[in-house]
Amino acid sequence: MKIGFIGLGNMGAPMAANLAAAGNAVTGFDPVAPCPAGMQPAASAAGACAGAEVVITMLPGGAILRQVAAEIHPAMRPGAVHLDCSTVDVDSARAVATAATASGLLAIDAPVSGGVGGATAGTLTFMAGGPARAFAIVAPLFDVMGRKSVHCGGSGAGQAAKICNNMILGITMIGTCEAFALADKLGLDRQKLFDVVSTSSGSSWSMNTYCPAPGVGPQSPADNGYKPGFAAELMLKDLRLSQQAAAAVDADTPLGAAATALYETFVEHEDGRGRDFSAMLPRFERRGYGSG
Ligand code: NAD
Repeated sequence: MKIGFIGLGNMGAPMAANLAAAGNAVTGFDPVAPCPAGMQPAASAAGACAGAEVVITMLPGGAILRQVAAEIHPAMRPGAVHLDCSTVDVDSARAVATAATASGLLAIDAPVSGGVGGATAGTLTFMAGGPARAFAIVAPLFDVMGRKSVHCGGSGAGQAAKICNNMILGITMIGTCEAFALADKLGLDRQKLFDVVSTSSGSSWSMNTYCPAPGVGPQSPADNGYKPGFAAELMLKDLRLSQQAAAAVDADTPLGAAATALYETFVEHEDGRGRDFSAMLPRFERRGYGSG
């Protein structure tokens, strides 16, 4: 397939490299990051779209996505698919899909789960929103870049799924870290807490797969000095998107709001920036009852 790939950062570069390695003709553009080997570099975002059947964007956020979409849609060939894999707000995803349709294009929003490790290994999960015929065109690309793709519904449904998933993740990580800090003060061994909770009703991905306690459970960023992994500031970005969405549709998400406030404090006023999001555990360890 002839593919344009715009945004070759931490995630985009390995995703594009996997598409090229699978035999696709990939033309890439990024104003800063270099083009990975095996791809054709373009001088502009519009230049990366010429003749492409699918144009993939992997960008930092909604405002940049809207800007790039306005630039590339006129340069895309009629009937081509704009596949956006960035994590953005639902409104931006829907606005870009509407603009694509008005330009005679198809659009899919398909944010990913799995991080840089998943992007490199080609094991990402894609959650997609958009028309079924567009999903059918890009599904083979999901198979190259990932291990699983779910067609969640119409435009914006992929972003909605991502935001809801990561809101649960933020909340369960905080709860898991709180529980370890409480267990410490109760004199309960961390390994014993893991043994019980990981096979009981308190279990979650945060405890079982990504345990925030060093030396307990499977290997995780906690065993590597809380080097990300999934950085706390990226968790904060996703939690803020959840609250923006909740406000827009009048949904009551009190724990999502509390998790957002905690990660905001951690990243912006404490030592969370640049650390894995599971570094909430050492944060709670240092605190006492009612610290606020
Ligand atoms: P990144 O900052 O490393 O990459 C973004 C790239 O976009 C940069 O290289 C930047 O130069 C480029 N860019 C900015 N403006 C541009 C423009 N106008 N035209 C073309 N390129 C432009 O970010 P990332 O970690 O690769 O994340 C990309 C997206 O994936 C984000 O939306 C993020 O939330 C999401 N995501 C990231 C992870 C992760 O672990 N890093 C996991 C899941 C989802």
